[in-house]
Amino acid sequence: MKKNQTETNSKLYKIRHSLAHILAQAVMDIRPGAKLGFGPPIDDGFYYDFILPEPIGSEDFKEIEKKMKHIIKQGQAFEREELNLDKAFSQIDGMGEPYKEEYARELAQKHGLKSLTFYKNGSFLDMCEGPHVESTKEIPQNCFKLKSVAGAYWRGDSNNTMMTRIYAWAFETKEELVGHVRAYEEAIKRDHKKLGKELQLFTIDEEIGKGLPLWLPNGTVLRDEIEKLMREFEFEDEYKRVSTPTLTKAKMYYQTGHLPYYKDGMFPFMEIKESEDSDTNEAYVLRPMNCPHHHRVFASQKRSYRELPVRLAEYGNVFRYEDSGSVSGLLRVRGMCMNDAHIYCTEDQIEEEFLKVMQMHERLYKLLGLENFHMRLSTWDSEDPKGKEKYVDDPKAWDKTQNMVRSAMQRSGLPFVEVAGEAAFYGPKIDFQMKTVTGREETISTNQLDFAVPKRMGLTYVGADNEEHMPYIIHRAPAGTHERFTAFLIEHFGGAFPTWLAPVQVKIICVSDAFIDYAKEINSELRRNFVRSEIDLSSDSLNKKIRTNTKSKIPNLLIIGENEVNDQSVTIRRYGIKEQETLNKSDFINQLLKKIKSRSLN
Ligand SMILES: [Zn+2]
Ligand SMILES: [Zn+2]
Repeated sequence: MKKNQTETNSKLYKIRHSLAHILAQAVMDIRPGAKLGFGPPIDDGFYYDFILPEPIGSEDFKEIEKKMKHIIKQGQAFEREELNLDKAFSQIDGMGEPYKEEYARELAQKHGLKSLTFYKNGSFLDMCEGPHVESTKEIPQNCFKLKSVAGAYWRGDSNNTMMTRIYAWAFETKEELVGHVRAYEEAIKRDHKKLGKELQLFTIDEEIGKGLPLWLPNGTVLRDEIEKLMREFEFEDEYKRVSTPTLTKAKMYYQTGHLPYYKDGMFPFMEIKESEDSDTNEAYVLRPMNCPHHHRVFASQKRSYRELPVRLAEYGNVFRYEDSGSVSGLLRVRGMCMNDAHIYCTEDQIEEEFLKVMQMHERLYKLLGLENFHMRLSTWDSEDPKGKEKYVDDPKAWDKTQNMVRSAMQRSGLPFVEVAGEAAFYGPKIDFQMKTVTGREETISTNQLDFAVPKRMGLTYVGADNEEHMPYIIHRAPAGTHERFTAFLIEHFGGAFPTWLAPVQVKIICVSDAFIDYAKEINSELRRNFVRSEIDLSSDSLNKKIRTNTKSKIPNLLIIGENEVNDQSVTIRRYGIKEQETLNKSDFINQLLKKIKSRSLN
């Protein structure tokens, strides 16, 4: 439980820690007989665990906060008391706190302590190491707020009693608190699991399996549109598409060097008897990555330096084992589809190819209106004493390739940082780090230069000198996996996707059934042009229809009434824009098609 000194001595740490005591004090007041667990400061505030005689919910927060504020105002002093073990345990006995006692006995025994410390403020006594503020008066007013109630096992062990954990935010200034709470509420509103359900994008069905999302029609549109976009980018940059199976011999991963180290991240092997008379089985596995398949495609024919770089692309399905407790939404899954490609090139081509990969990222981000990103170059750490186990042992190759990658990064003009010691075992790695709308930093894509696996897998090309040479490989995935990238986009757009990406691009609403023929005419014309248009055929009132479709965040609602039929026009309500607009029908369609084609953001 020892934290580093500078951290525990900071003013904010003391404030948060003291507030935890004050929270317990207030809870004991409204729930006499409550038993105490732990109450530490955390990143954005503090929590305290309780066994409660009666449950507490967010409806009780006001009362608890009021009591806490009252205690703060009283200026109660925090008094430290250090007692020898005999006295300490008789004091704990008197407190009637079985969990504190259990922990105290363990602490004393494990660390051979001679004494224990207690802190007292007002009538509240707690066994703790401190430090605390001198007086509750030092705690700034209105800088804390109770956040939530959750269940938590005593000491994090599921064999133990379930306690009630009350979380709270706490900061040194009101501005920080307000900013933090706002970001949190925004994140809740934009949560991909919540929006995924509301907008019918995907579902997790336990009958199918944990961590295996089912993409609903609306979510499948998002996948298809992103995939189409990436295919276009890759086509322009002269990638070639391949299709390879998701089931493969496990020995491929021994060849690449991922096994045995990566075994925990893979599904169990399947033993398959390849022929009647063989007495050994072959181990097959759901692939955790597409790399060896593409490498074998490269190796399927003799390659000349003249055809390099060879760029092989595939949106490939991969499966990674995650334990059932950690799978969640689209971010922690067991099956995913990856925007994968491998570029096989000569040493001279590395820098140029890496530059193009970075430029593809830039184009993608620009199109989506993403500006807050930087690259992170993870290099080999020549000083690392364990370096020989962690990385391919070839210092010259590391230096050479890192210099080429770094130079490509400089030429790209995109911001980057460099971190030593986080490279892949087979070469330097570039991550694209994105600051999300809710302020988190997320890795959106990972790219690697590989100078080791080609050797391990015996990949070669014939050079101008007629000799066999080893190609370099760039592993790249600008749009990551469909699962992660879609989760990110749902949050980024808050579910209100630009027209080109929106699952339903146009919804047509008739003022009355009398105008349905004209609505059908527009709908067919839009669909002939591959616009995802639908007519609202519900029996709801006009206002209800508008409300429902606005809630579904459909970017273009067309309202059709008598005037529109007579003038061959449409009235449009655009999502997020108050004023509606009436346009000639063909002008509207032309505008819309142009917008979709250019993948415009508004
Ligand atoms: Zn304390
Ligand atoms: Zn790869």
